[in-house]
Amino acid sequence: MKIHEHQAKELFQKYGVPVPRGRVAFTVEEAQSVAQDLGTLPVVIKAQIHAGGRGKAGGVKLAHTAEDVAAVAGSILGMTLVTHQTGPEGRLVRKVLVEEGLDIDKELYLSLLPDRSTAKLVFMASEAGGMDIEEVASKTPEKIVKVYVDPLVGLQPFMARKLAYGLRLEPDILKLFLPMVHALYRLCLDYDASLVEINPLVVTKDRRLLALDAKMNFDDNALFRHKDVLAYRDLDEEDPLEVEASKHNLNYIKMDGNIGNMVNGAGLAMATMDIIKLAGAEPANFLDVGGGASAEMVENGFRIILSDPNVKGVLINIFGGILRCDVLAQGVVEASKKVGVKVPVVIRMEGTNVEQGRKILQESGLNLIVAQDLKDAAQKVAAIAKA
Ligand code: ADP
Ligand code: MG
Repeated sequence: MKIHEHQAKELFQKYGVPVPRGRVAFTVEEAQSVAQDLGTLPVVIKAQIHAGGRGKAGGVKLAHTAEDVAAVAGSILGMTLVTHQTGPEGRLVRKVLVEEGLDIDKELYLSLLPDRSTAKLVFMASEAGGMDIEEVASKTPEKIVKVYVDPLVGLQPFMARKLAYGLRLEPDILKLFLPMVHALYRLCLDYDASLVEINPLVVTKDRRLLALDAKMNFDDNALFRHKDVLAYRDLDEEDPLEVEASKHNLNYIKMDGNIGNMVNGAGLAMATMDIIKLAGAEPANFLDVGGGASAEMVENGFRIILSDPNVKGVLINIFGGILRCDVLAQGVVEASKKVGVKVPVVIRMEGTNVEQGRKILQESGLNLIVAQDLKDAAQKVAAIAKA
């Protein structure tokens, strides 16, 4: 799960990581009153969306006077912000963070995340922080220092110092940096975060060190033990179909293709997406209905797939184990009748009660294409994609 910058900054503050003074605002009037409370100019007005790259896209702006605050807040609130992370459709800005503008001396980069290949946590730091960090990573990766932390051993003081030396911090800033690294490590572990990122981490002209930007992602499987993070969830920022799917405990991820698919088991779902691509089409989604899906879950999954306007055909690929083929067939038939299917649906199923299942499909009177095996299913889907 992702959260907003202003929310991540709340968590940072809880752990003693300094951030600029500021508050979130939903209207121009609120933005003005936050600026007034801050009692300083310039202020910075920052679009709050679940995507980075806001600065370059015009979602982060300075306001030098009280009149500016209203004008800038008015221009950002309600805009559709398109950044390199939002996709071409962009995101509607519903709230802004209004914070004190700081006099920046240096912009650094610091992040912490699990590294799957080493099964450790990795800190990444760079002197070349700010809005061009992606370019630094691709063109001059030697400018990024990495420090791996074995979670069983924990973060050791020498590791934090190694990061500090990599950033070539001066002694006064180094003193502020070391406890910050330890605080971020605790924050990451305590909250089961899958990413903590500060870009930029700034050294100000008056020799302070603050997180000017803040990004945190969380492991969804651990959210049950972080009620405060769950309260940060912003459904406006999530794909509506994914929100709907999560209500029915379906593992659904929306993609850009035109062939919808419903599969039981994540591995088979991945293989099915490969088959769709092999056949020359593009999957419209990932959907694992799980091993023990009920007819109702199948129905909901089917309805969600079909409500994606890009979907031109559907491949249902089920290996009947715990989920019996007759239950699946029933779910598909009921869903088809309720939602009124307008696209071809290819069904490949195998396993428990497969004969009953096929019978239900054939006798349904619906236009459901029954495939004999996986290869047959792939060919039938290819035909739909070409048509
Ligand atoms: P994004 O990463 O989405 O582009 P940031 O929060 O990193 O957004 O802001 C982009 C840039 O705006 C920063 O690199 C920094 O130069 C400037 N900036 C952001 N907040 C402030 C602030 N409070 N004071 C001064 N400059 C700021
Ligand atoms: Mg940033």
